Amino acid sequence: MKSEYFNALLEAYLEINPSEILSGQVPDDWKALSSFPLEGEPTKITLKHPISSKEKELTETTHILAEGKKNVIKEIVGDFDFSAQNIEEFAKFWNDLPEKLQEFYKDRIENLKKEGKLDASIDSETLAKELVHFPADSLIPDHDWLSRLDLYATIKAAEKTGAKLYFLRFKISPVQGFIGNARTERDLWAGSHMLGYLTYQAISEIWHEYGPQAVIFPHLRGQPFFEFEIGLLEDKDELEIANIPNKVLAIISVWERESLEDLKGRIESKIIRELKGIFNAAWEFYGVNFEKKNIYEKTIEKYFTITIELIPFEEVKPVFGKLLRDYLTTLGQKASVSTYYSELFMILDQLTDFRSREFEKVKQPEGFKCTLCGEHVAIGGDVLGYFELRMKWEDLRKNLNSRGIYDIKSKERLCPLCLAKRFYPRFYALWKAGDVKSAYDEDLARKVKEYFEDKILNVKRFESVSEVAIKRPTRKAVDLCKESKLYVTGNSLKRPITWYDIFMDILEALSSKYGGSFLNPGGTLASSFSEALRKLRTAVSPLFKKLSPNIEVLYKENLRTLDSLAKIYGLNSTDLMEKGINDRVRLDVLEAILELEEFIGEPPKYYAILKMDGDNMGKVISGTKAVKPLRDYSLTENAPDVPRPVTPTVHIAITRSLSKFAVEKVPNLSKAHRAELIYAGGDDVFAIVPTDQAVQLAYELQKEFRKDWEKFDYLQGSTRSMSAGILAVYYKEPLYSAVRKVNELEHLAKESGRNALAIGYLTHSGNYYVITVNWRIFSDDAVYDLLRSFVSETENMKEKISTRFLYEVLYGVDRWPNDPDAIIQLLRYEIMRHSNFRKEEHEERILEKLTEILWIARNVRAKVEEKELNELGISTDVGRVNEAISGVIVDDPEKDKPLDSFEKVISAIKESEEKLWIFEIQEKLRGLVGGDVAKSIAGLVLKKQIKGAVTLIKILREMEVRA
Ligand SMILES: [Zn+2]
Repeated sequence: MKSEYFNALLEAYLEINPSEILSGQVPDDWKALSSFPLEGEPTKITLKHPISSKEKELTETTHILAEGKKNVIKEIVGDFDFSAQNIEEFAKFWNDLPEKLQEFYKDRIENLKKEGKLDASIDSETLAKELVHFPADSLIPDHDWLSRLDLYATIKAAEKTGAKLYFLRFKISPVQGFIGNARTERDLWAGSHMLGYLTYQAISEIWHEYGPQAVIFPHLRGQPFFEFEIGLLEDKDELEIANIPNKVLAIISVWERESLEDLKGRIESKIIRELKGIFNAAWEFYGVNFEKKNIYEKTIEKYFTITIELIPFEEVKPVFGKLLRDYLTTLGQKASVSTYYSELFMILDQLTDFRSREFEKVKQPEGFKCTLCGEHVAIGGDVLGYFELRMKWEDLRKNLNSRGIYDIKSKERLCPLCLAKRFYPRFYALWKAGDVKSAYDEDLARKVKEYFEDKILNVKRFESVSEVAIKRPTRKAVDLCKESKLYVTGNSLKRPITWYDIFMDILEALSSKYGGSFLNPGGTLASSFSEALRKLRTAVSPLFKKLSPNIEVLYKENLRTLDSLAKIYGLNSTDLMEKGINDRVRLDVLEAILELEEFIGEPPKYYAILKMDGDNMGKVISGTKAVKPLRDYSLTENAPDVPRPVTPTVHIAITRSLSKFAVEKVPNLSKAHRAELIYAGGDDVFAIVPTDQAVQLAYELQKEFRKDWEKFDYLQGSTRSMSAGILAVYYKEPLYSAVRKVNELEHLAKESGRNALAIGYLTHSGNYYVITVNWRIFSDDAVYDLLRSFVSETENMKEKISTRFLYEVLYGVDRWPNDPDAIIQLLRYEIMRHSNFRKEEHEERILEKLTEILWIARNVRAKVEEKELNELGISTDVGRVNEAISGVIVDDPEKDKPLDSFEKVISAIKESEEKLWIFEIQEKLRGLVGGDVAKSIAGLVLKKQIKGAVTLIKILREMEVRA
């Protein structure tokens, strides 16, 4: 980095403060970065959410203004100083800037209070925070001053050193394939983490050159990878979740045109060197003794497409400041506005996407493919015959097993890339320990050997999908807890015992010298349960000690034969016998498990995968969507009635909130719901969750995402939304296929009109149930109340509805007439037929359940198909029909209020059914297709929605979702 650039950057950071913003004494260049520069004095100080425009008043500052003490603010914020000798020191300063400012301000405020210059009633902490989050422009307060300061300083430093500014867009691909090719959670995690690690290499190269403020997306302040690199990360476990997205946006200074090519080259070669470093260390560590290693290095080199596109910032600059204002004013009442920035951003984005597809695929040699990805030729696959190849991999595996390494499973043969992925968790452990700075450290392989063979380090323990599955308490365990017969107490909360507790108890006993126990159950059955648990501990200990702890041993189907037991370890029965594990051991384990099952039932075998992301995020960032009129973001009426343009400063403000979501919110909520978080970057989330928690976790995540203000921080705001896919699936379903299915579900949620949740339930026998719903149905108790009303016929039917109802409707509804009135009557009849309510409140309860089902149905996303219309003899444009339908069904976050509510459905059922949504649809269709036909289509839609509601209840019951 040029030293003048660095000095200019430092200077610029001290140039602006809230007092100057308040008095309007800021440089023109600062004003020019407003969304619409306005003149005048503010009467109150507020922030407007950068997307939703929801207001948050800064009360203490406003209070001071009202007292006419504007000058006091100058005294609080003046003279803040710092120095930095190099870019690393600056990075630390920048990372901690908000906290440092807050401390500084708070001290000053306390002093001024003592001196009597400030009202004693002023809350020092709050006022200090308000000043840290002060608006960059008090008349158009749509972003805070620290967000603008980043861009301002970058521009200033470039100007002073005669540099040209460029937008740089970086992208690494492919992503989905690389992550999705996974056999275990370890692979899944390694794939996404490795991508994050590699992308971060580009980021590191950029910030070392231009400062951390130059990276717009992802925002670096508080990013664990960044904090780790500069030595400020307190909790290293935060590194575990890769929250680095695969796209990066930065604003960089260019002094000579040639240096651009140079930068591109450096980024590329750094990433490739890292990748090769990991691969070579893997090769060494595993002791791979195949030939032709150079060819494999080539596969590694060519796998990722690294795209870097640049656009000069100069093309944006003319529309800043007065010009922007004039431009927007002349637009006046005219429709939409797109400024240079949003257009440029879109072009840049599309260019990177386009270029990243342009690259040629590496020509693959002929041969046997990798068993993990099925894409590349396996190591040795191009030169060896099938049996020789299999034998060599088998030898390699046995060799590794004898060293206590189980990274490669029986019958596996890997390509260079998948080998690197398998090894990655070991590299990660060293990196996290701070013992290597990068993967191409020469002695990496040696260190890995040393560390892992002497057990100085352990590989991150990955929870398998079954471990996540068994975190769900069984129904029996829940009942026992309710009856105080058997439970555990943790954090002073009484909760049911899970099979996961049992597993952890065994692990604890294994690692403890004294073989002590971990689980301390309470309740009347506690002592007999503990006895059974002790038996299991003893029975599995040879297995867990000689091989490794494996949860799947707890599933009795894996204990049928010695071979089925061996299979979960990727071994065969001979391997087990060699280790002294025979049928006696197997039967002992089986017996102990059966005894425990007597208490709490079988260990759960289904888990859920959750994948979600923000809706239309690209459009939000480019300003083509979700942006309100300028007026809504301003404090005066002078702003014209045009959409607020998205400028780089607003963009920075938005990406700061995304970083808060990914780094803070997602990990915390995932933990609270016992989920194993694989990835959280930008607006993307990917996690493995116990089935009973998945829906609630997803619901809460999107709720958090849509928060406007949280104290002085903000999230994406109430006008935004997320879509998600949840798949509940059997633990033996191949992971790559489950991942593909959950991707499809997320896509389905988007296709249905966004702001939705698609849930799929894939049974072990291959049945697949799918349903897409509005988030809203999980916002009140209706769905949970209804869930509690169902019992299977073997259970106590008192006050309940039989689950037969679900089957009757699921398989019968298609034959009902296409007439909304008749359908509702039939639904009521079916509830009546299958329920058993007390006579005196019979009518009331039936009505209640009918309402609940209709409420769920109302929130089911449904579309009609052309074929269905044809069958009804209707020939009309199916697109327009569906548009009318979704106009009623789909919840649009940009509208302030949803169309109706549970209460409205209740009153419609009680008073006049015409008020139900389905008649609204019918009414809308009448204009399109005429009365009778409209009724038929509405009937068809209602049937689909009722079927959907019943499917949802069925799925949620299987997932054991409880209120
Ligand atoms: Zn592969």
